[in-house]
Amino acid sequence: MLTLLWLLLPVAAAAGWFAARRSGAARPEAFWNYSANFHEGLNKLLNDTGELPGELFDSLDDTDKDTADTHIALGNLYRRRGDINRAILLHESLLDKPELGEQVHAAALLELAKDYDSAGLLDRSEDTLRKLIDSGQRLPESYGAMLVLHERERDWDRAIETATEVERVTGENRSSVVAHYYCELAEEAKAAGYTDQAKKLAGDALTRSEQCARAHMVLAELARAENNHALAIKHYANVETLRPALMPDIIDSRFDALRKVGDETALRKFIDHIRQQRNAYSVIRTTRSVIEEMDNVESANRFFKDQILQRPSLKGLRDWAQDQIAVSKVGEREKVQVICAMLDKVVEDKPTYQCERCGFLGNQLHWRCPGCNTWDSVQPIIGAEGE
Ligand SMILES: [Zn+2]
Repeated sequence: MLTLLWLLLPVAAAAGWFAARRSGAARPEAFWNYSANFHEGLNKLLNDTGELPGELFDSLDDTDKDTADTHIALGNLYRRRGDINRAILLHESLLDKPELGEQVHAAALLELAKDYDSAGLLDRSEDTLRKLIDSGQRLPESYGAMLVLHERERDWDRAIETATEVERVTGENRSSVVAHYYCELAEEAKAAGYTDQAKKLAGDALTRSEQCARAHMVLAELARAENNHALAIKHYANVETLRPALMPDIIDSRFDALRKVGDETALRKFIDHIRQQRNAYSVIRTTRSVIEEMDNVESANRFFKDQILQRPSLKGLRDWAQDQIAVSKVGEREKVQVICAMLDKVVEDKPTYQCERCGFLGNQLHWRCPGCNTWDSVQPIIGAEGE
């Protein structure tokens, strides 16, 4: 990584200077003088040899539009290395120079907000972003950073406020994210035992976005907790319609609600519905056990075989091999057991969810990806190695 930086940064410095030169603004000596200081500072930074050379800070007084970008980049490198004080010093120094213009100031403010954030000075970070937003500069980035800040603090009320402001100022539609913020509040209220408030907040989520499958999940769970299983079934059906990939996450609860309603016709109708489509493995496995309970093992095994042939998966193969242990001849049983043990190990090591955006892997559903902070990007892994 460091080698790559060494190779790229002189190129970046030169590219910046040549780009500026094309605009007729750069002086040849500005590049070479600056470049010498820049590389000396970079040397210290990458070799971690302690203090920055005094010349670099002396040269801050001479910063002009040609070299401001490089000061910003050097500050960013310090921040990434964890040396926040130097990053703040470099970025703040640019704000004392009105002659650098609005664009340089906006870029320095945005980086300064990130510096404060990295230092845990969240209030200062927020104040800096607000200053930037009020100036009308770099709105997409500053609003984006402000929302990430509220999300990290789990301040969902302020996140709703800011996202609504983004919609008003930029005309962007943020309804699906705002619906998640309401769902977060609904789940907090549900966990605290405020059922009515949780219902209202999940309803607010649906008012902001009718497509919010998560709100239906929350409402289904609240309905089950109140033994209103018929209502829970309706909400689960909406989850499937809006986001079929969530079926593995609701299948157990949905069958449980159907059983508790006690309507066998509705239960069989739902099993037929599953039978007619290709299903995730968790859906196949749960439905198999329901059929076995309602009818018999043979009928359940027939369903299982038909389904895993339609959508082969390692988990299906593992469970099928497990079934073969009981029916194997004495001499073969040990071999099948070895195969099962190996498949167990393979399946156990496989993650079940993946972020479509950054590739984050995990074993539980995250509404917001922990890797890239994107909402609704984590999906169950479908295919031979997943569901
Ligand atoms: Zn991600």
